[in-house]
Amino acid sequence: MAELIKGKEVAARIREEIASELEELKGKTGKAPGLAVVLLGEDPASQTYVNNKEKTSKKLGFHSEVHRLPESTSQEELLKLVDQLNHDDNIHGILVQLPLPEHIEDEAIIHAIAAEKDVDGFHPVNVGKMMIGEKCYIPCTPHGVIKMIEHVGYDLKGKNAVVVGRSNIVGKPVSLLLLERHATVTICHSKTQDLPGVCSNADVLIVAAGQPEMVKGDWIKPGAVVIDVGIHRVDDKLKGDVEFESAEKVAGYLSPVPGGVGPMTITMLMHNTMQAFKQLNGLE
Ligand code: NAD
Repeated sequence: MAELIKGKEVAARIREEIASELEELKGKTGKAPGLAVVLLGEDPASQTYVNNKEKTSKKLGFHSEVHRLPESTSQEELLKLVDQLNHDDNIHGILVQLPLPEHIEDEAIIHAIAAEKDVDGFHPVNVGKMMIGEKCYIPCTPHGVIKMIEHVGYDLKGKNAVVVGRSNIVGKPVSLLLLERHATVTICHSKTQDLPGVCSNADVLIVAAGQPEMVKGDWIKPGAVVIDVGIHRVDDKLKGDVEFESAEKVAGYLSPVPGGVGPMTITMLMHNTMQAFKQLNGLE
């Protein structure tokens, strides 16, 4: 039976470290990290994500602002708000919740966020820096995945890592982070041939395909580390991209859904906001 990598517990430990560092820095500076989250419209999943981000940042003692705007907000109005936040000294991290309504171009908004406040790590400057291994804001979900693997003391050097999914927010960045840690990385996507065969060679399997319970136990190499990024509501239950019941019997380590990658994502956002606070205040 696989050992579960409980992101919830790993995340709680990282948040404790952030809280104790913050206490020290607050004492020194009298200031707190400020996170501004912008949400357009009333998509229930986005509302839940934003509420959780607000709750977590307040709990940590951050200054937290949520700008809830109607779906009809124009691109120009949104750009104006981003510009205000870019110039607000109390705000160190800015996150515009995606997806945005169709009349707004995601790229235009992502590019408008000051790179030094881009705690999501989606701005091309941060993406480029990550590509060449320079210090930058690492996107929260991929960073959380790596922290979970590191938490169990697994050495990625020379291992076969397979990533299922090539999105800009999960698949591609997590592949780069694995490569940086000296894994041999294969990236799969919807056109990949013999996906089960490719997966079965993986010492480390990261699944971010957005397909409920797609990866079955018999696709998994015995003893492999399996991180399930997917999250879906199926018949009122949360499921991942990996079929948990069959995977648990084969994998060496497995992240559950819920309680796996999800809590790590929010925690790495807090980590990035703390990093932004320190950088913008010359505390590093
Ligand atoms: P996406 O839809 O942008 O990308 C999915 C990728 O998977 C694509 O590259 C596609 O080519 C590939 N894919 C789709 N079907 C496939 C198939 N049958 N075989 C092989 N590859 C296939 O999704 P995303 O934004 O990267 O998210 C992936 C999943 O992770 C979703 O379920 C999403 O909800 C979840 N997610 C969770 C968190 C979290 O914090 N837990 C964060 C981000 C995304």
